[in-house]
Amino acid sequence: MGRVHLSFDNGPHPEVTPRVLDALRRRGLSATFFVLGRNLDTPWGMELARRIRDEGHRLGNHSYSHAVPLGDDPRPDAVAQELERTQDLLDRVASGPLWFRPFGGGGVLGPHLLSEDSLRWLMARQATCVLWNAVPEDWLDAEGWAARALDQLDAQGHSVLVLHDVLPEAMAHLDAFLGAMLDRGHRVTDALPADCLPVVQGQARPGLEGCVRWRGPDMLEAVLSPR
Ligand SMILES: [Zn+2]
Repeated sequence: MGRVHLSFDNGPHPEVTPRVLDALRRRGLSATFFVLGRNLDTPWGMELARRIRDEGHRLGNHSYSHAVPLGDDPRPDAVAQELERTQDLLDRVASGPLWFRPFGGGGVLGPHLLSEDSLRWLMARQATCVLWNAVPEDWLDAEGWAARALDQLDAQGHSVLVLHDVLPEAMAHLDAFLGAMLDRGHRVTDALPADCLPVVQGQARPGLEGCVRWRGPDMLEAVLSPR
């Protein structure tokens, strides 16, 4: 029995996101959707973002292109291209605290998640960086992810579960998974565990150091100290 924060990454998707929203609504559950700018940047993407908002879920920034993790992105304008461009779209539909989730490439945590520039942007925007601790790899196993997710939720008291509302076959099992999860006594929560939050409203938290590709040994202090 534990608490579970549900999150759906990489959408919205014109066919899958509506079905995910239907399943959540039927069960009265709320989730966070970490969306891609390139999907939002379409008429249907903005329409779905409004539906996500109107049905009581949260929206977060998950980069524009989802091509290269920010810590590995060599482009000098990566923050503008990936973060600002997506946030400009999100700001048209959502207000409130800015949530960002970096992408890890297969759910992997490490210094590839953030660049110094992207960390500075998060701090300037007073953003909260939301990581994860339960990744059942729904993109690899459309059938088996649900059983793996239940095992992961059973093993810890407070989970941040990562699913993807862009996978038609995997998300066909979402409703059954949600039922099994609730039957086991897990409860869905808006709260996030501290160890999944390396940055909270622009402030550094324990664990941040290992999430950033630092340019030099003294950069952590330089970034964190006020200029
Ligand atoms: Zn992703």
